[in-house]
Amino acid sequence: MTIIPLPAFRDNYIWLLRAGTCAVVVDPGEAAPVLRYLADEGLTLAAILITHHHPDHVGGVAELLAQAPVPVHGPALEAIAGIDHPVGEGDVVCLPGLGVELRVFDIPGHTAGHVGYYGDSALFCGDTLFAAGCGRLFEGTPAQMFDSLQKLAALPGDTRVYCTHEYTLSNLAFAAAVEPANGAISERIAASEAMRAANQPTVPFPLSGEMLTNPFLRVHEPAVIYQAETQAGRGLASPVEVFAALREWKNRF
Ligand SMILES: [Zn+2]
Repeated sequence: MTIIPLPAFRDNYIWLLRAGTCAVVVDPGEAAPVLRYLADEGLTLAAILITHHHPDHVGGVAELLAQAPVPVHGPALEAIAGIDHPVGEGDVVCLPGLGVELRVFDIPGHTAGHVGYYGDSALFCGDTLFAAGCGRLFEGTPAQMFDSLQKLAALPGDTRVYCTHEYTLSNLAFAAAVEPANGAISERIAASEAMRAANQPTVPFPLSGEMLTNPFLRVHEPAVIYQAETQAGRGLASPVEVFAALREWKNRF
């Protein structure tokens, strides 16, 4: 199985999984880049996967279904037109044409019913975990998002993370503000700047690197706690409170 980024809108990636003549897309916010790629490569769409209901993730579903009626897997807890295979925590999505099975995780926080898919060392996590960052809390609580991120962080370190936005450099700028003395962050900034200058995506990225550079996964680090407390102007009694203070700071960063 090969996984291809199809750039969409300003900074979205629609992920296309392919093997033989079979293709599956994740979060097709628009249909045109998908249809163009399928035609150029002589591929047949076999299924659609959805992580959450935001328009830049589901906007192309109706047009894709009009071209070919395929199974649409998506969060059982969100009302999304076109989903005929609702999924939630513990479900397994079989993609026979690709020879891969994906395990479903409930990862609420960005939206109330957000799901992620994991299999073959690849994680499709929508707008929950980003490179050196995490999604905004539109519908969930800090505690929910904290738990969702911890669930993803428990996956094997060699997991490749396929998030849906190219936010890496702006997230790393925030990470450097949180931990100015963290050398892994400055190294990642240099590497990511070089990739962007060469017009390459910084996604996917290995989960193991997030433990060293993502402030939202480093809420137990004394340096992170110190900065979060300074920004909040008070002591923070738990990792969830540190996470919430970081997320609020990032919102106005
Ligand atoms: Zn979203």
